[in-house]
Amino acid sequence: MLITLKQAAQKIQAANKILVTAHILPDGDAVGSTLAMLQILRSMGKTAEIFIDDTVRDNLHALPHFDEIRRPAKNEKFDADLLLILDTEPDRIGNVRNLTDAPILNVDHHVTNSGEGFDLYLEHEAAATCEIVFKLAGELGAKISPDAATCLYTGLATDTGFFQFSNTRAETLRTAAELVACGVQPNWVSEQMERRSISEVRAMSQALQTARIFFDGKVAGIFLKTTDSTEGFIDLIRVINGVDVAFLINEKAPNFCRVSMRSKGTDVATIANSLGGGGHIRAAGCTLKTSIDDATKILVEAIGKALRVENLSDAGTLLADIN
Ligand code: 5GP
Ligand code: MN
Repeated sequence: MLITLKQAAQKIQAANKILVTAHILPDGDAVGSTLAMLQILRSMGKTAEIFIDDTVRDNLHALPHFDEIRRPAKNEKFDADLLLILDTEPDRIGNVRNLTDAPILNVDHHVTNSGEGFDLYLEHEAAATCEIVFKLAGELGAKISPDAATCLYTGLATDTGFFQFSNTRAETLRTAAELVACGVQPNWVSEQMERRSISEVRAMSQALQTARIFFDGKVAGIFLKTTDSTEGFIDLIRVINGVDVAFLINEKAPNFCRVSMRSKGTDVATIANSLGGGGHIRAAGCTLKTSIDDATKILVEAIGKALRVENLSDAGTLLADIN
């Protein structure tokens, strides 16, 4: 059920022991919003803990209070009176779902979140959940410490490609400015987020070698088989002249392909949703439990249909030299 910001704030005010979580495959917004929320809740005298059921990309470990993030053990229980889920719908939080039966408060900016069966404050125009958490802190009358501001700024920056993507609104930049006034050092955040290991840089160059274009150059894709982070790889092909939809397919395990999509105009959230995933209009993803060849065919066909391409045969003519 959709609720207002004020109602969300009231539910937080009424709770004392709050379990904060975000999605698996956590990104800067998931980690930044939970870490900031933890600090905001504690500054209000609440007991709060963060659980996220996944490993977190190395770059984000530098964020203040990162070490407080815990991963639920099998069959673990946690005594809470509110489960605060940030930056995702409740079915993408893994085993955190089994930690508690506490009522859910969901705060999110994903347009594909239906809010069915739980309380949801959704602002899909918000560039990042961190932008909403900043507003929520205002509604709660909580002060934002420099550490909390750094976490919020990180989520804003990473979800907007450092204020380059079309989700960057005047309000996003105003929020960023306020966070800098609270003590954020933007250069520190940028340096932490752009850091990569030499093997990641080499993996990027290998990924680029697989780049293919489809449908008269409107679509570009790269293909990987790795368990390492591929964060940011898709941005390398977004820039190709004339490309509207860019995608990355990573077969992380046999018959388990993670898909990322980015677009300049096409609604990729609807495409991802039709394949069992979700996201935003211009940044979305899904998991396809097939081989990389079949995943490519399924995905390229779905993108072709969304682009109203008449001859979809392009979708099948691929991959011999990719594997
Ligand atoms: P990314 O490509 O960076 O993994 O994801 C882009 C956006 O789509 C993020 O906001 C992410 O939360 C969302 N997203 C990615 N994969 C999935 C998925 O499998 N299910 C849903 N519901 N959202 C996803
Ligand atoms: Mn987000």
